[in-house]
Amino acid sequence: MASRAQRSDGRAVFERDGYECQHCRTDGESAGDDLRLFAVGRRSVDAAHPRSLVTLCVDCFERLDDPTASTAESRVLTADGLFRTIREITRTQSGAVSDVAEFASLATSLPATLEAGDRPPYAASRRRILLALAVVDAQFEAVDTADRSRLGGDVLEAFDAFADASARLRTRLSAVVDLVETVTSALGRCHVCFESLEADQSQCAECEITRLDVTEWRDANGTVRVDALFSTLNRSLERTSATTERVTDGATALAETLAD
Ligand SMILES: [Zn+2]
Ligand SMILES: [Zn+2]
Repeated sequence: MASRAQRSDGRAVFERDGYECQHCRTDGESAGDDLRLFAVGRRSVDAAHPRSLVTLCVDCFERLDDPTASTAESRVLTADGLFRTIREITRTQSGAVSDVAEFASLATSLPATLEAGDRPPYAASRRRILLALAVVDAQFEAVDTADRSRLGGDVLEAFDAFADASARLRTRLSAVVDLVETVTSALGRCHVCFESLEADQSQCAECEITRLDVTEWRDANGTVRVDALFSTLNRSLERTSATTERVTDGATALAETLAD
């Protein structure tokens, strides 16, 4: 159970998320008793700013919080069960791939957006991506630790190849997210909550996150080399496309062994 303090803080998050699980889209009660808060990124729920918190249903929360918690009986993996999991992983992952591409384009248009005084949906995009990556991690962990004795050797081999490709993809997607955060920080915004940061501010006043160090992107005069950041971001994004293809091939090969 969430503590009372968390729940009252959480109400604003539930409200923002429309009392809806941000992973499976199940509607919660307006009291929020069947909803939980999940912190994306590397903070605990208590330490996280609301812009790093997402609403989850109890099922999704438990699967994410401890993927290996359910009873051994329910964790015997059948070919059907694995097939369903792969489908779910593939869906979540391809959502993350397109969200990351959008997040990268949000970054490249950020100078113009800020110039125009507009506020892009930065924190919401970041939350959605980090949640998706955490969900996929948890799904793989659940498969890895399940009883897989009913699955054939060829299936397991195809699964491991798929898992490797997916892990590589997630690493690359995270690298793009890191670069978008760096761009955001370099342009004077908090990489978590997107509030403005003064030039000499090392910590965000709004969410108390330490500002990202962008020293390596500064030229001799201290000016951030935004163009260099953008071309690195674009290269990083290109690398995710190649990896995405490999993951798709892996999923197809795996589906074929499961259909045999
Ligand atoms: Zn859910
Ligand atoms: Zn902040």
